[in-house]
Amino acid sequence: MRGMIRSIVMAVALVCGCVSVAMGQSAATPIRLSVDASQAPQKILHAHMEIPVSGGPLTLYYPEWIPGEHMPDGPIIQVAGMKFSGGGKTIAWRRDLVEMFSIHMDVPAGVTTLVADLDFLLSGPASGFSAGASATASLDVLSWNQVLLYPKGLPAKDINFAPSLRLPADWKFGTALPIAKQDGAAIEFAPVALTTLVDSPVISGRYYRAIQLTPGQNPSHEIDIAADSAAALAMTPDTQLQLRNLVTEAYALFGVRHYRDYHFLLTLSDDVAHFGLEHHESSDDRTAERSLIDDAERIGFATLLPHEYVHSWNGKYRRPVGLATPNYQEPMKDDLLWVYEGLTEYLGEVLTARSGLQTPEQWREDFAGLVAQYENRPGRDWRPLQDTADAAPFLYDATNEWSNWRRGTDFYEEGELLWLDVDETLRTITKDKKSIEDFCRAFHGGSGAQPELKTYTFEDVVATLNSVAPYDWAGFLRARLDGVATKTPNEAVEKSGWKLVYNEQPNTVLEIQEELARHASFSLTVGFSASDEGTVADVIHGGPAYNAGIGPGMKIVAVNGAQFSPDAMRDAILAAKNTTEPIQLIVANGAQFRTYLVDYHGGLRYPHIERNDSRPDYLGEITRALVQSAAGATD
Ligand SMILES: [Zn+2]
Repeated sequence: MRGMIRSIVMAVALVCGCVSVAMGQSAATPIRLSVDASQAPQKILHAHMEIPVSGGPLTLYYPEWIPGEHMPDGPIIQVAGMKFSGGGKTIAWRRDLVEMFSIHMDVPAGVTTLVADLDFLLSGPASGFSAGASATASLDVLSWNQVLLYPKGLPAKDINFAPSLRLPADWKFGTALPIAKQDGAAIEFAPVALTTLVDSPVISGRYYRAIQLTPGQNPSHEIDIAADSAAALAMTPDTQLQLRNLVTEAYALFGVRHYRDYHFLLTLSDDVAHFGLEHHESSDDRTAERSLIDDAERIGFATLLPHEYVHSWNGKYRRPVGLATPNYQEPMKDDLLWVYEGLTEYLGEVLTARSGLQTPEQWREDFAGLVAQYENRPGRDWRPLQDTADAAPFLYDATNEWSNWRRGTDFYEEGELLWLDVDETLRTITKDKKSIEDFCRAFHGGSGAQPELKTYTFEDVVATLNSVAPYDWAGFLRARLDGVATKTPNEAVEKSGWKLVYNEQPNTVLEIQEELARHASFSLTVGFSASDEGTVADVIHGGPAYNAGIGPGMKIVAVNGAQFSPDAMRDAILAAKNTTEPIQLIVANGAQFRTYLVDYHGGLRYPHIERNDSRPDYLGEITRALVQSAAGATD
């Protein structure tokens, strides 16, 4: 999973007195689940279930820990209209007081089918992940975990569902689920295990387009697009070529595919939550409506599809043992997210470059912004990288305020730098005979062709690295994971054959990201970031603005006597260069106004990288397409 914009711009055991009931379920009698999405534009879904049961106490679960989201954020608050019956009679239910995603009831003797109905309210905010807004007037993204209950007692992989879906008239849909039958807007899917169902969202919409990326080839790769307007569907031939390159380059990297076919499920809307969520044979990718047709938006979302696609290998096929839980209630352990997400972030960035989704220049500017952020992140002085993974279930919900000091889910970006360092170290110690590709072939290899789950531990990662090139990999990784104020960002760049520089030339990619976010960062100068209207978001701990007394949530009204704007702030920073006069900010802190004096005279500083000719150009090698005729066509 990942959010849309890099942050530069800013085990509970079930306690229950009931005995576990023997389910009357087998592969021959799947749970029937009918979802009516015909009122999705009205922000409500209806779900109807027929669950094979036998008489006695029964516990049903609503999914709590959502795969790929790494936290207990199943949107139970959006469930309404929940009712149960058997043999034509209503059955009373009660929620567990400790495990609140559990529903208890007594099934009368003789009842063999429990009928369950619930509504899912699609009125979530346009933020967060799959629990956020998922439907508009013209489209819907269905995450099956939101519209079902499942019985306690069997692992999710052993519970079978027969799902069906009704869509608004004339809507089309895309999904990795196999279709059994379709009659207009009514679709019946083939019965599947609960794990496959939860792993297979359905996008649908009025404005819909499916593009085959590898025509005539097996496996098939399709991008299914649902948008809020017909105009938004106009993917350029260049983007189509780059996505084809992405598929080709990923195969060249891993050498095997662990899916029957693959669907990129792309939602283009300004009114849904923006993020990506990985699945084994698809990905749920949600971004701004004009992402395919606006040059700036296209750069903003360039890295999303590569990241989620890599997860089919790194996350779905190979998964940390603590994340491969038997059901959706057992807590996940996030300690290896620096592999699950960090390596995915690294490989996703590499494939973004190799596929041509970013030009080499854009890639370098993006990379420079990332390194600069992590070289100037005071929270690295107290919180080890390992703890950003261990604490992920709450850090995902952290706001941007004080993010430099608290840190957030840094195992993505610093994890990317860590794996770049691994790649460079492999190349160095083997005199360019081995690289991360050899690690991927060994770690993510196998027979392929269909979904499979193979778990791993820290020791497995170390053993695979040692099989590629013997080294003190355990010591290498633990020093970077457990230490504070580690040199990972500096070392990763130094070994790359490039160097980080700061000058007064704006970073072209950061500039676009800031414009899209209507946000301006002065983190590398006066030490804060703010909305274009002046509301302060992050304040760099120990930086000039911090020392002047400025904190998050304050609103900068004026800079040197003129109304605040990002340009006015930049003008003031330039004017303060080579003087001793502080920058004067009039700031509202709630209803109180005060003038703050910021003592900064270093001028504007934008990060870039420059070639260091004294070392081999590893970054150039790493970002070069493996397959001829791929990225070069559009560079
Ligand atoms: Zn991810």
